[in-house]
Amino acid sequence: MKSKLSIAAVMLSAMILGTQCGFAAPADQKPGVKILATGGTIAGSAASKTATSGYKAGSLGIDVLMEAVPEIKDYAQVSGEQVCNISSNNMTDELWLKLSKRINELAAQKDVGGIVVTHGTDTLEETAYFLDLTVKSDKPVVITGAMRPATAISADGPMNLLNSVRLAADKKASGNGVMVLLNDEIDNARDVTKTNTTSVDTFKSHNGPLGFMNDGVPDFYNKPLRLHTTKTPFDVRNLTSLPKVYVIYGTAGSDGKIVDAAVKAGAKGIVYAGTGNGSIHQQDKEALIKAAKAGVVVVRSSRTGSGMVVPEPEYAKEGFLDGDSLNPQKARILLQLALTKTHDLGEIQAMFHKY
Ligand code: ASP
Repeated sequence: MKSKLSIAAVMLSAMILGTQCGFAAPADQKPGVKILATGGTIAGSAASKTATSGYKAGSLGIDVLMEAVPEIKDYAQVSGEQVCNISSNNMTDELWLKLSKRINELAAQKDVGGIVVTHGTDTLEETAYFLDLTVKSDKPVVITGAMRPATAISADGPMNLLNSVRLAADKKASGNGVMVLLNDEIDNARDVTKTNTTSVDTFKSHNGPLGFMNDGVPDFYNKPLRLHTTKTPFDVRNLTSLPKVYVIYGTAGSDGKIVDAAVKAGAKGIVYAGTGNGSIHQQDKEALIKAAKAGVVVVRSSRTGSGMVVPEPEYAKEGFLDGDSLNPQKARILLQLALTKTHDLGEIQAMFHKY
């Protein structure tokens, strides 16, 4: 009896020690993580190990990315799927819809505990926010990329992928909406933006990150306060396209012609990336008043890079809405989705203060 007890005690302490030291769990106890690959620099290949520009983004397949980091299998039952293989500056609304629908299908599966999306960094923040508004699950969805091609010395992709799989496999990460993870930093999809053209430390949120990967383990310090995923009304399951919304950048010398061109091209909405607090050049304002009268929804945003667009009576009286603290490219996404639900200006404005 005594010896049976001591064997049990030894086994128990070995199990506890194993967990503390990060020994891999048996394969069938590891969470399932699906990696959806879309291309980008993380799948980029250059002619030499020293090249960090002039490479072809989106040239390696998901199998090659996974083979480069066999350690991902220590933390999850991982499988991969190629959704597309593009440089993300060419991202389209149709690919967003495809990706969102696939994530919703996968998230509904019992054997999938979390999802990782690999993506080019140029429009990563946009895809992240689109998914944040349209994925209907609390399971962790992590989007990652790389600033250096897979062939470069000190490529950042492999560690970003490993960290992302570990984050997606971690129950602590549930309910945070879509998370962006690069360079050990975890950010929320709504607030994060690419701030530097080439640095690996490029993704930043003005209100600070959600947390960090500390030696491969997530630690959280913030929560996303705006509603996301299961708490939004946006359902893309039956959509095959999104309403056309253009971003127009305000500058000195604006003359209203780009606004007119957007309306002629069939814009249902225009996000005006205004100067300062979403200020609008007089000439553009006249063109936007005409557009609004024709039923185009106009949202003021700011080209400054931070801060909330505070309502101004001068613009409110023309029916122009305020984009809150969303940058212009994200205000465009929310307006597209809002227009799939309503054309009521009051309802759309309320969405900008909720999501
Ligand atoms: N142009 C690339 C892309 O967005 C850049 C990158 O991935 O870092 O796909």
